[in-house]
Amino acid sequence: MKRLLLVLLLGLPCLAPAQDLAITIDDLPVHSALPPGETRLSVAERMIAALQDAKIPEPYAFVNAAPIAENPALTDVLTAWRSAGFPLGNHTWSHANLDTLSAADFESEITRNETALRDSPDWHWFRYPLLVEGSDPAKRAEIRRFLKERGYRIAAVTMNFNDFLWNEPYARCRAKHDEAAIAELERLYLAAAHQAADDARRLSPGIAYVLLIHVGAFDARMMPKLLAQYREQGFQFVTLPQAERNYDDSLTPPLPPAPVDANRLAAMCSAPQ
Ligand SMILES: [Zn+2]
Repeated sequence: MKRLLLVLLLGLPCLAPAQDLAITIDDLPVHSALPPGETRLSVAERMIAALQDAKIPEPYAFVNAAPIAENPALTDVLTAWRSAGFPLGNHTWSHANLDTLSAADFESEITRNETALRDSPDWHWFRYPLLVEGSDPAKRAEIRRFLKERGYRIAAVTMNFNDFLWNEPYARCRAKHDEAAIAELERLYLAAAHQAADDARRLSPGIAYVLLIHVGAFDARMMPKLLAQYREQGFQFVTLPQAERNYDDSLTPPLPPAPVDANRLAAMCSAPQ
């Protein structure tokens, strides 16, 4: 009997169905530092190509349109995203922090950003900048009411490894041609992503997950390896609406802390030459 139980337990990982994971990308068209020789468009195109190669279904990118008002050429980044058949969502006009604005000003940040989204299908998805949903209960409730009234769903985040921390060190290491440091950045990035996926499974077992990453130069470089790693971990890719079909927009799903040594990353390639 014991032996049968052991065989059953050992067999379980093989029988476990793949878990659903939606990929979402924040801060289009401008995120973090650029390495020498790269542009916002080249970063976005590299990321789009990786998402297409991995057959990621309808990856949402969340847009801040303020940089386009300053530099209209950045429209090309949104055009490239749309041309790939990928949807866009709202991330406020200027990446506003709800805790530093009034509810009315935050609502203006949402509506002002909509012009940039109107040519996209199903753009009524909202991602809170910095994942700040409002520490003041009244303001928090007002913004949720406003979003619902305007037909938005909240693009929750249930998997995160603070990928944004890698993009500045990567730009510095590229400028210094420090290939050993870049290899170390790659190793740390994949390890953090792997750990965050394990943590998400522990904290919220059995749900469909939504991953937050950013449109950074290092993210674009790492995308093929990152997506392959998620497949190896037993995830299959779904759309954001599919992942969130059982999410309740009135609640914030739990999110484990990101397993990252930020100081270590900040120190990489930062010594003067
Ligand atoms: Zn953001």
